[in-house]
Amino acid sequence: MVQELTSISKKTVAIIGGGPAGCICGKFLYEEGIDVTIFDKAKVLSTLLPTGGGRCNLAHANYDFKTLASNYPRGEKFLYSVFSRFGTNETLDFFRSIGVETYNQDNGRIFPVSNSSKDVREKFLKSLKCKVISENIRSVSTLKSGYELVSDKSKYFFDVVVIALGGHGGYEVLKNFDINIISPVPALVGLVTEKDFSEIAGVSLKNVECKINNKIYCDDIIFTHKGVSGPLIYTVSSLKARDKMPYKINLKIVNDFDFQKLLNNNPHKDIKNLLSSIVPKSFAQYLLDDLGINSDIKCCYIDGKIRDIIYKSLVDFEIIVSGRVPDGEVVTCGGVDLNEINSKTMESKKYNNLYFCGEVLDIDGFCGGYNLQNCWSTGYLAADSIINNLY
Ligand SMILES: Cc1cc2nc3c(=O)[nH]c(=O)nc-3n(C[C@H](O)[C@H](O)[C@H](O)COP(=O)(O)OP(=O)(O)OC[C@H]3O[C@@H](n4cnc5c(N)ncnc54)[C@H](O)[C@@H]3O)c2cc1C
Repeated sequence: MVQELTSISKKTVAIIGGGPAGCICGKFLYEEGIDVTIFDKAKVLSTLLPTGGGRCNLAHANYDFKTLASNYPRGEKFLYSVFSRFGTNETLDFFRSIGVETYNQDNGRIFPVSNSSKDVREKFLKSLKCKVISENIRSVSTLKSGYELVSDKSKYFFDVVVIALGGHGGYEVLKNFDINIISPVPALVGLVTEKDFSEIAGVSLKNVECKINNKIYCDDIIFTHKGVSGPLIYTVSSLKARDKMPYKINLKIVNDFDFQKLLNNNPHKDIKNLLSSIVPKSFAQYLLDDLGINSDIKCCYIDGKIRDIIYKSLVDFEIIVSGRVPDGEVVTCGGVDLNEINSKTMESKKYNNLYFCGEVLDIDGFCGGYNLQNCWSTGYLAADSIINNLY
């Protein structure tokens, strides 16, 4: 069967990078009878293992391509044509075809029923029949016809090359090309704050709101030894990936409420106990200590000035962000400039038969399955375009 398939096309395809993007591309190419080889310096699909905290949040339940694309601070418009060809439904069909059934969490995140990225990787690997060479590619250059790949060990010649290097550096592989790289900075990363939250590290707050560029985002946050993290903070880090530090964010920890009425109804309660009915006890204590307010004071002694100070810090909690947590980056903002790429084919506009897919592109989405979705969709599209070009 393998012989039969590979004899259909004489052209050869190299994929540099065996992450999610490179592997889905390789699988579709192989199944159409293309002679395809994946090069990876590490173990193929090993980057899938830590995803979703080991559960692999492989997609998001956004079935309309425009709504799906609106979750990408970089790449939204570019992804319209990509997602209209291969969106959430096609992704789920693909996983079903390799034996991975999925379910939707309440928040729209899609996980495998096994809740195991190891299981997804194993099933994917089982279905991946193309050649894999475990070598580090140092450079790619154009020949009169086709491309030369130089690895640590050898030289190779291919008709078509797909760049699927991921987002964590490695752009030097492209040094022989006139391809613009948007400088990479971390996105989806915990933030370092000027204020020290280490005494409440591990405490989380639910459904906190943050307004950025006139849009309100709502999700959970968690305090850390270095500052703040959690889904809402990842969103902030993504939207403000290129903002100069330090910058200020204002969090609405609780919705507007009648604080005076609450105080009047609980005159003999300690203020810390009253606040503990609204936010976690340790955070209430932290807040009062930070504001220099005696936490044992009875509510009936809280005057208008103190009431307003406490209220403001609950509905408009200000944090100065001074940095990003080192090595905490989940995805990269930046990469291959989308102006270099044809969004209908994933082919370079300057170099024929040179394709790109996955996080190596200047595309990054919010937390929630969007970054893997980018890999599945752009990986599929690159494969489909190559197939259409070769026949
Ligand atoms: C901790 C963590 C959790 C995450 N969780 C999720 C999640 O739940 N959902 C989600 O949507 N996204 C998640 N992401 C993001 C997602 O994993 C990435 O967006 C995705 O892996 C990118 O896929 P890729 O194929 O483009 O690149 P990568 O996965 O980075 O793969 C690139 C491959 O290329 C190889 N390579 C690089 N340079 C060379 C070279 N010169 N020669 C040979 N091989 C090379 C690398 O070894 C690697 O295997 C998470 C990321 C992290 C770090």
